[in-house]
Amino acid sequence: MKPVDFDANVLTPHMARILEARDMTAQERFFRLQLPRPLNHRPGQFVMASIPGIGEAPISISCGPRDDDQLELLVRNTGSLTRTMHQLQAGDAMGIRGPFGSGFELTEFEGHDVIFVAGGLGLAPLRSLIEPVVGDPQRFGRATLISGCRTPADELYREQMQAWAKLPNTRIIRLVNDTAHLPWNGEVGLVTAPIAKLEMDVPNTLAVLCGPPVMYKFVIMALAARGLPSAQIFIDLERRMRCGIGKCGHCQINHVTCCQEGPVFRFSDLESLPEALT
Ligand SMILES: Cc1cc2nc3c(=O)[nH]c(=O)nc-3n(C[C@H](O)[C@H](O)[C@H](O)COP(=O)(O)OP(=O)(O)OC[C@H]3O[C@@H](n4cnc5c(N)ncnc54)[C@H](O)[C@@H]3O)c2cc1C
Repeated sequence: MKPVDFDANVLTPHMARILEARDMTAQERFFRLQLPRPLNHRPGQFVMASIPGIGEAPISISCGPRDDDQLELLVRNTGSLTRTMHQLQAGDAMGIRGPFGSGFELTEFEGHDVIFVAGGLGLAPLRSLIEPVVGDPQRFGRATLISGCRTPADELYREQMQAWAKLPNTRIIRLVNDTAHLPWNGEVGLVTAPIAKLEMDVPNTLAVLCGPPVMYKFVIMALAARGLPSAQIFIDLERRMRCGIGKCGHCQINHVTCCQEGPVFRFSDLESLPEALT
């Protein structure tokens, strides 16, 4: 994966118009934006999203590559910026810089079976890769998504997962930790549980993980127990990022600038950086 080229206006946000804004859960709000020009992003890249006078934060692009000038984001309400974003409606605007990060090279996935493991909000960045993979069964192998969240009320992209499950060559395994008395038609347990019994063509399989840091260690152990080498595992790392262009150093792990060289890494490239998974 090589870093993308940036234009000279890389630090200047472009104002994007919100075409659609709706709560997906009590914590997460979905946005569809119209940009002044197509972003031409790769799966796994992120933007710096901002509200003038409030702040700016990295937000993953949650839709697959597209030819038009639209973009989808999913924002969890965690602090001052995202709380303000949750008040935005269709017709309002937010600032967008980017895309940033190396992202995934779709050509590396061609012909391979892909196992996606998403924990909670990790499904948002993974969706940017899931969409092109499940949408082109001639080009990619079998896709398996293992998606876990705390309770049924926290599940993201439910209708979309149900639609993906009907596609050829696609398996969707939805789990919750706790059914919390709500109706639930998926499985109960952690995302590691299905890995042990998953039908897997190991030499031809790539795994892609995104979720809370605690998830990585256990999912990697479960995949390793099935014989999947670390060079066949990709992880999406979340670090505190400010500039997006490898200058400010906030996201640096030793010599690695996460915003430029990541946030997507092959696990084999991180084995000499134990701090990466803390
Ligand atoms: C590459 C990348 C992609 C991201 N994609 C998304 C996304 O798609 N949707 C989304 O909702 N969020 C995403 N985030 C996280 C988002 O950028 C932070 O939650 C951001 O700080 C929110 O800004 P705020 O001002 O609302 O909250 P803040 O006031 O900045 O923070 C709220 C709380 O979160 C903690 N926090 C902030 N950033 C981090 C971090 N990087 N790691 C651990 N704790 C942190 C703070 O300490 C504080 O407790 C992403 C982060 C990165 C690095």
